[in-house]
Amino acid sequence: MYLCKTVEKEMKDKKQESQDSKRYKVPAWVDKSVMPEEDLCPDCFKAVGVKSRYKLICCLGKMKEGGTVSVLTKHLGLQQPTVTHHLQVLRSIDAVHVEERGRERIYKLNREAHCFEECKIPY
Ligand SMILES: [Zn+2]
Repeated sequence: MYLCKTVEKEMKDKKQESQDSKRYKVPAWVDKSVMPEEDLCPDCFKAVGVKSRYKLICCLGKMKEGGTVSVLTKHLGLQQPTVTHHLQVLRSIDAVHVEERGRERIYKLNREAHCFEECKIPY
């Protein structure tokens, strides 16, 4: 049993309004064909609730060796501060980690993160 299933059951046992405040609908841009969850816990919603942040996850998912902010910026066609901000949010929920390689900072998807392991967010 996945953690989020457990949480979901607990929520159902509680009042309806608390369920509404703690579960989020999977956004339309998340690939539902490989997404078994029907709704998301707050952390997972934080990860994919913004379309470009989900795109960033998908982009990092394809980069086995990770990537720098400038490489990610080029791939996504976003402003660098936007990418930096999304990476900070993803770090705050442990979805990415950073490796210092010389003067460069390499961002990698943390495939063991809750979002990917338990809520099965596809990337
Ligand atoms: Zn979750």
